[in-house]
Amino acid sequence: MQRIEVTLVRTKVYELLKEMILNHELKLGEKLNVRELSEKLGISFTPVRDALLQLASEGLVKVVPRVGFFVVEVNDKYVNEIIETRLMIETFCLDKYFDEISASPELVMIKNEIEEVKRTHDRKLFDDSDERLHKLIVRSSGNETMVQMYEKLWDKIDLVRHLNERYVVSNEEHKEIVENILAGDKRRAIESLISHLRNVESETIRNLPLFERTKK
Ligand code: ZN
Repeated sequence: MQRIEVTLVRTKVYELLKEMILNHELKLGEKLNVRELSEKLGISFTPVRDALLQLASEGLVKVVPRVGFFVVEVNDKYVNEIIETRLMIETFCLDKYFDEISASPELVMIKNEIEEVKRTHDRKLFDDSDERLHKLIVRSSGNETMVQMYEKLWDKIDLVRHLNERYVVSNEEHKEIVENILAGDKRRAIESLISHLRNVESETIRNLPLFERTKK
């Protein structure tokens, strides 16, 4: 019983800290004080430390030996690396598994969500449909190794995707991607995916200094 409890606490702390980082409650580059966090959560050091080490292995937290833990600092390179990796995985999947993707019933659901976002400008719904569309492209490969890699990458995507305010435009770009897929036009679907990801990259990088100034 004891062991299960320890595991549960560790998982809970991990999930909580991850959420706080992803919604920027803990700011980018902020120092994470293990003692403070464990006092705030009313638990011992160990699960907090374990959770931070796990988040470090996922690239959301940075460990500086003898200094401590920090929320990762997002710079041009961080954004560029994410987009480059996304381009590699997503365009590969869209090209190779185009038939599987275009036959997926989920695509019609995503199309409806896109229309709904267009009407309501609902950011939360956009986030959901964004995740659904990009993950559908990768999951349709049925390649577990690649899907796992992409799922892991998604934490980093999640960290940076609120650093731009272009979601209404992104929604339009998603519409174009989905329509090209549904029309069976692979070449244009890939082109629209590439330009969408490149646009997200440049807009996010452009917004970084603004974000740096306001984070303190
Ligand atoms: Zn997108």
